[in-house]
Amino acid sequence: MIVPEDLAKGMLKGYGLTVPQGRVAHTLEEAAAIAAELGGSGVVKAIIPSGGRGKAGGVKVCKTQEQVREAASVLLGNELLGHCVKTVLVEELIPIKQEIYTSVLTNTSLDQIELILSLVGGIEIENTAQKDQGSVLHLAVQPGELIPVHRLVLWLRNHGVELDELNLLADTLAKLHRAAADLDANLLEINPLAVTHDGRLVLLDCKLEVDDNGLSRHPDLNKLYLASLSPRERRAKELGVSYVPLDGDIGVITSGAGLGMATLDLLQQRGLAPANFLDTGGGISEALVKGVLELIMEPPQVRGAVINLYGGINRMLEAAKGILAALTTMEGNRPVVVKVLGNQQEEAWELLEGQPNVYVVRVVQTEDAVDRLVALLN
Ligand code: GDP
Ligand code: MN
Repeated sequence: MIVPEDLAKGMLKGYGLTVPQGRVAHTLEEAAAIAAELGGSGVVKAIIPSGGRGKAGGVKVCKTQEQVREAASVLLGNELLGHCVKTVLVEELIPIKQEIYTSVLTNTSLDQIELILSLVGGIEIENTAQKDQGSVLHLAVQPGELIPVHRLVLWLRNHGVELDELNLLADTLAKLHRAAADLDANLLEINPLAVTHDGRLVLLDCKLEVDDNGLSRHPDLNKLYLASLSPRERRAKELGVSYVPLDGDIGVITSGAGLGMATLDLLQQRGLAPANFLDTGGGISEALVKGVLELIMEPPQVRGAVINLYGGINRMLEAAKGILAALTTMEGNRPVVVKVLGNQQEEAWELLEGQPNVYVVRVVQTEDAVDRLVALLN
């Protein structure tokens, strides 16, 4: 989940970090009123789940309240980088002495946390980093490990960082690391971290992406996350699975993401377009299969479905019962091709064969299941 910038900054403030004063506005009037509170000037930022707003015109530095109103009117309700701008953040204008890039990144493949720092920050950071790789510092930390500030001071000094605010920078990095760990962040990126003329370090921007699997430990974020889901995605979450809506008209259920990808590819190859994709994971039960089949058949454009399950520990008779239970509640004649293999496959086939709208495929190849569906739909 990408945490909206205003919310993320509010949380980071709670860790003793310095963020600009300000808040979100939904209307021009609100934006102008916030600017007035801030003394007239302000920075107006489009709140969208995407970076690169500066370059795309989504961050406007305004000298007067009138300019703030104008900036808000350009942004609110319009599209930016593929997202509709519903709110803007109006913040105090911070004069910048230097822009620093810093991030805390969870490297899941190496199972380590990486602290990344570059004294040249700002919207050109990607180019700078490519041209001058030495300008980007990395520090790897074990998950769960705390980094004492003195170690960060030493790290900065050893890498030749020369900055009057070096101790404050170490303190800021320690707090960012702590916040990222607490919040189960995949990424916490501050760009720019501004050094001000009066010697403060202010988080001008913040990209916070948290691990969806950790959300149950963060009730406030979880609420926000559930509110951002479509009703079908939410029901899938309640069933303990993920529902991925797609553009086509064929429902897809598989046990496992790899089998799912293969099934989607084969459908595409044979000219069918998936309407959705749902991975049951390992805990197949009659109730789960009934729930997910109802879910994937629900969009009105769905013409048919493929169910591609493999049972090791999971018992396929349970899955078959779930399939029948769901189909009896469904109207219309939409073919469901079922390939269930493994544990209790014979019992499952026996229960399903001959049932209305059910077409059992007894072979291992997913190709056969997809070809069957193609034939049934033509
Ligand atoms: P992004 O492009 O989506 O990462 O959006 P940012 O919030 O990083 O804004 C882009 C750029 O706008 C920053 O790199 C800054 O140079 C500038 N900017 C943002 N906030 C302020 C501010 O308070 N004062 C000043 N002077 N510039 C700002
Ligand atoms: Mn930025």
